[in-house]
Amino acid sequence: MKKFGFITMLLALMLFMAACGSDEDTSSGDGESGSEEEVYQVGIDTTYPPFEYEVDGEYTGIDIDLINAIAEDQGFEIEFNPMDFGGIIPALQAGQLDIAIAGMSITDERKEVVDFSDPYFDAGLSLVVSSDNEEITSLEDLEGKTIAVKSGTTGAQFARDNQEEYGYEIAQFEDSPAMFQEVSNGNADALMEDYPVIAYAIAESELELKTVGDRLTGDQYGIAVLKGENAELLEKINAGLQSLRDSGEYDEILNKYIAE
Ligand code: GLN
Repeated sequence: MKKFGFITMLLALMLFMAACGSDEDTSSGDGESGSEEEVYQVGIDTTYPPFEYEVDGEYTGIDIDLINAIAEDQGFEIEFNPMDFGGIIPALQAGQLDIAIAGMSITDERKEVVDFSDPYFDAGLSLVVSSDNEEITSLEDLEGKTIAVKSGTTGAQFARDNQEEYGYEIAQFEDSPAMFQEVSNGNADALMEDYPVIAYAIAESELELKTVGDRLTGDQYGIAVLKGENAELLEKINAGLQSLRDSGEYDEILNKYIAE
């Protein structure tokens, strides 16, 4: 009698635990299968006005407005993750981010690891020196000089690719303001930065810098998702971008940040 009671209790306990377990499984399964909306994690480089920067703790800029408008148009939720530009593609690859929008140039090398949206902005690199520098007017004048670049960027890549030909030293920085500072305080002789970004920085701040020569490259910005994993999301991003262009909101966003 005693033994029977014990076994019954054990069975009852096992049943109870199994029930709890399966309960938990169902509820977490429900959450993942879409009853709650998925929030996409968006990587941004908030030291990059006029594309992305922070004002009074709020993210602002062309990229921020664009991705917010795309998300609204396509009905998905996003959350911003600010980081150094050089960390963004690795974070996408590690699954910490779903989307990257960071004034990111579309390059063949990056296409090996990410899929890009349709291009949304024409940019390209400029050579930049301090405003009183009369000596450097082109890449040919960089022999023996030091140029500042930002890690993981097309500027850093361009500098490496042409280093042997022009014979300069490269100093690497993690964000654009640090790189600008280095040249304006005379520690480096020149830097490479995307034209719209350096033009905006010169116009909006006290930086004693100027661009010299023609643009070194022409490239286009794209929104990135991890390669081969996010076709549906990429389609939504492209559809959103197109509908912003069609409605005129795309032009409104650009005009808000870039003066004629
Ligand atoms: N457009 C450049 C690149 O893609 C720089 C981007 C940035 O510094 N945020 O590398």
